[in-house]
Amino acid sequence: MNFATFKKSKIRKSYSDIIFSFFIASVFILGYHLDKNSNLTFSSVSDEESAPHKGSAMKFGFPLDSVYIQEDVIKKNEIFSNILNLNGLSPNLILSIENEAKEIFNFRNIKAGSKYHIIKKSECDDTPIAFVYEPDKFTYLVCDLRDNIKVDLVEHDVEVCEEVAYGSIDGSLWQSLGKIGVDNSIIDKMEEALSTSVDFYHIQKGDEFKLIFEKKYINGEYIGLGNLLAASYSTDNNTSYSINYKSKDFDGFLDFEGRPARKTFLKAPVKFSRISSNFNLRRFHPIKGKTIPHLGTDYAAPYGTEIRSVADGIVTAAAYGSGNGKFVKVKHDKVYETQYLHMSRFAKGIRPGTRVKQGQTIGYVGATGLATGPHVCFRFWKNGRQVNHLKEKMPAPQTLPQSQLGNYFEVRDKMLVRLQKIGHNYPHQDMAGKVANP
Ligand SMILES: [Zn+2]
Repeated sequence: MNFATFKKSKIRKSYSDIIFSFFIASVFILGYHLDKNSNLTFSSVSDEESAPHKGSAMKFGFPLDSVYIQEDVIKKNEIFSNILNLNGLSPNLILSIENEAKEIFNFRNIKAGSKYHIIKKSECDDTPIAFVYEPDKFTYLVCDLRDNIKVDLVEHDVEVCEEVAYGSIDGSLWQSLGKIGVDNSIIDKMEEALSTSVDFYHIQKGDEFKLIFEKKYINGEYIGLGNLLAASYSTDNNTSYSINYKSKDFDGFLDFEGRPARKTFLKAPVKFSRISSNFNLRRFHPIKGKTIPHLGTDYAAPYGTEIRSVADGIVTAAAYGSGNGKFVKVKHDKVYETQYLHMSRFAKGIRPGTRVKQGQTIGYVGATGLATGPHVCFRFWKNGRQVNHLKEKMPAPQTLPQSQLGNYFEVRDKMLVRLQKIGHNYPHQDMAGKVANP
């Protein structure tokens, strides 16, 4: 989405915030979940009156008041030339149309279940003036037969609406969110937005999160998530904020003070994983059967899950060791190195000397070497010694330059007001809260 649309929907949003109380009837709960084991609630209300309908006077570029559009669906084994023939087009004309369209679309690739539309001047007219085929949700093919045959593949207008969601936690956030079928990409974005300030591996019962995000619609039909615009996460004694900010020089998430969410080190080398064994100097080793210090943090994840470098750096080893299995070691600067053990395989191009970016996939989860199941043993080296990365105070990233902070704070403050309203202005939250804490 471009910045102009962002501004537009923001303005529309604040207006609908003001008049929200008049639209209570149209509020709907998008997702709600109560699980006896996890007690996680997740709710989402439409922040918008309803999915928009745009340009009702035109359809596929034709004025609705002067044409008749007959909609149908391609049936199994149906051939497009037959459909057109049955609708009054001569075999010669059909051949010319196929010829004209061949650069754009092959009519042999029509799919059963896809929609098509025959467009006539009026219902009783026999000769179509055009027809439209919809290969997917995002585009439609128009064959205009009025003068010369004209074939065009057109993209639908995508309407972006904003929604809010919030929840409180008692248990594992990722597992529970997965269970209730929330689009994984919003979890992903939330993790990215808040990763500087929230340790998602140590979330506490009662923690609360709030999200403002976009949903995309075509002709009123939901087609997917857009951007996460703002997020907050509250623990007992602290609330962290993350605001999506776009300017000439920056595009991404910033925290309250204007520091990029991209921190110097990611908290974990795999997404959606759980810690199966902590850094522990007196651990009883399950395979060797004796006390051996565990100098890493184990993240259990399914076989083949992507392992990412936690920071920019240069690969210093991509090798096999009998205990470590396949492992990669990355040097980040003079002080820090990280190491990732038990991989099933390395990512393409990962070898000593390769430069890697933060978040780049360097290998895949496995159980090579001494491992009881698929996991990454993550080793964090500081000045040549292995330390517990979860206890380390990592260097904080720099804020935006002073000259840009003023603009950011304006955007931030508007979003903070909206985040703070969530749970006060939205009446159904009381309901969710009651159900969640019986
Ligand atoms: Zn380990």
